[in-house]
Amino acid sequence: MSTNERRMLVVMAHPDDETFGMAGTIARYVDEGVKVYLICATNGEAGMAEPEFMQGHTSVAEMRLAELYCAAETLGLSRVYTFDYRDSGMAGSPENNHPDCLFAADVDAVAGRIVEVIREVRPQVVVTFDPYGGYGHPDHIATHQATVRAFDSAGDPGAYPEHIEADRQVYRPQKLYFMTFDKRWLRFTVWLFALMGQDPERMGRNKDVNMRYIAGLETPIHARVKTGSYQEIVRRARECHASQLGGLSPRRLANILSSLFMGTEDHYTRAYPISNDRCRERDLFEGVKSDA
Ligand SMILES: [Zn+2]
Repeated sequence: MSTNERRMLVVMAHPDDETFGMAGTIARYVDEGVKVYLICATNGEAGMAEPEFMQGHTSVAEMRLAELYCAAETLGLSRVYTFDYRDSGMAGSPENNHPDCLFAADVDAVAGRIVEVIREVRPQVVVTFDPYGGYGHPDHIATHQATVRAFDSAGDPGAYPEHIEADRQVYRPQKLYFMTFDKRWLRFTVWLFALMGQDPERMGRNKDVNMRYIAGLETPIHARVKTGSYQEIVRRARECHASQLGGLSPRRLANILSSLFMGTEDHYTRAYPISNDRCRERDLFEGVKSDA
């Protein structure tokens, strides 16, 4: 492995989070020669599955993973790791109680599997969800918690020794980012919905998304990654996830609004190295040193 090689690990919960969250960022770094790896912790069983998209598939999981591999190829991901947990569904749904779901899984066990991948891939940069899971999805929050634990543990020889092998030595990534978005546009959306007579505290298909609450969460933007040249790849990656394009999730709405108003940038909170609000990065690899 060359010492100048740059590697990024993206840790997500569902097939489509990588595309609707940060397709532009992935496309840009792949184009710049970075090897980008993805962990997708669940198979997205709770996602929409209109009959027209199920043709040729025996389960929702199989259909959604096929969509994920289409997006992975479009974006140029070096490898996708699937953890096979069950999609926990939205907060409060009966699927939260399924014993195989990510929400029910032990955080330490999930973190251990991420550590195993970090030690194999040796990414300088790791990206995951913010502590609120973007819009509060239980799987996003579980993924965030396990990734933070894994980031802190992968370089510690005493942590998860069962995941130390000849080709998986301890390794400490240099930077950790949380995906976020500019809340100003969400606040604008909340205002717009209220104006249209909708209740912004009860949005989404299941009326369980409180947009007013999400808009009030503070997730500082430390890094803005320009993705303008990659919109065609982003569009093709989105088309791969055709089964999920119906309806309007709060996050998708925020993405649409922010792209309308902000141009084409992906936004990140830098969690490590710890930064203050004056931090203004344009590149997630800023300051990254080559591996010794
Ligand atoms: Zn998701």
